[in-house]
Amino acid sequence: MTKVVPQTDPGASYRAARDEIDAAVRRVLESGWYILGEEGRAFEREFSEWLGVAETVGCGNGTDALVLALTSLGIGAGDAVATVSHTAVATVAAIEMAEALPVLIDIDAPHYTMCPGDLETVLRQPPPGCPPVAAVIVVHLYGQPVAMDEILALAARYDVKVIEDCAQAHGAMFFGRKVGTLGDAATFSFYPTKNLGAFGDAGAVVTRDSGLAEKMRALRQYGWARKYVSDVPGVNSRMDETQAAILRVKLPYLDAGNGRRQDIAAAYDAALADGPVLAPRRREGARHVFHQYVIRTLERDAVQARLGAMGVGTRIHYPVPVHLQPAYAGRLKLGAAQCRETAAAAGEILSLPMFPEMTDGQVRQVCDALKQI
Ligand SMILES: *Cc1c(COP(=O)(O)O)cnc(C)c1O
Repeated sequence: MTKVVPQTDPGASYRAARDEIDAAVRRVLESGWYILGEEGRAFEREFSEWLGVAETVGCGNGTDALVLALTSLGIGAGDAVATVSHTAVATVAAIEMAEALPVLIDIDAPHYTMCPGDLETVLRQPPPGCPPVAAVIVVHLYGQPVAMDEILALAARYDVKVIEDCAQAHGAMFFGRKVGTLGDAATFSFYPTKNLGAFGDAGAVVTRDSGLAEKMRALRQYGWARKYVSDVPGVNSRMDETQAAILRVKLPYLDAGNGRRQDIAAAYDAALADGPVLAPRRREGARHVFHQYVIRTLERDAVQARLGAMGVGTRIHYPVPVHLQPAYAGRLKLGAAQCRETAAAAGEILSLPMFPEMTDGQVRQVCDALKQI
């Protein structure tokens, strides 16, 4: 029996640092303080320092982080927010949670990220019945930075805010600058499988604007600026001390983990060279951190089955574009390109095993399987 290489394995990141993590969790349990305390503040400081941004505000998850970013920027009912359909549904769900109207932009096919040309179509003229676009949420999908130079130029020209959804891109860079430092605000998810993952739900929103951060801190806890006094209507989206302590253990390993992901990606590239299956394309000037290594082929289902028979676990990120999902189909506004590239990609993409704790033997097993297809 061939051993199966899983597509992802968050438990491996626990086993790799078990003693440190056990000690951190025990420290929190024994402290008697479980929500919004020393650990959370320390993680916010350490994450800000690692990213190179003034303010990190920890919160419950990456979806809430997007809502906090939108709401603190004053975006809500009566505003349209442009984003992509080729993303985790969370990106679009957050726009509706903030009571704004999503407008979905197509991807540029080789990179799977927002097409600046299609964005310009809705900035110049919103689709019928759509209010003006007040903000853009770009998604650095799979760990690949969006074409931020073009997006930021458009945002300046049309005076819209830019929020970076960095849930898959901790440590990615665009021309030497880390994603998350380029827009008005940026959000991170620490869902267990992300490049920096907690062992439960957690997220953060970051900004260089301390006034904005103050609003985010109030919004995440009932709108309190002072205890028991709500100055604005808020929500409850706080980070547990346990998750913060775990993230503090894992943050120092993040850069090495991203380096390992890049080495695995290079091995896959070599195995796919000259074959019929398309390897992922890196954007010029980008440091891609390979949250996912996504191949593309018209024979996707057959390739997935053959890899599975050779013990290679795969997943599809994502099989149904947001604008075609039952909850959204037919009711969301789309850019002029009608998300045609997005719909085409969904039927042809496949994510290979990718996590830093993969052994050399596991990487070899995947490469051998790739050479046979
Ligand atoms: C994971 C993810 C989110 C949502 O994060 P949660 O922590 O699960 O709420 C948002 N956007 C993208 C692109 C993601 O991959």
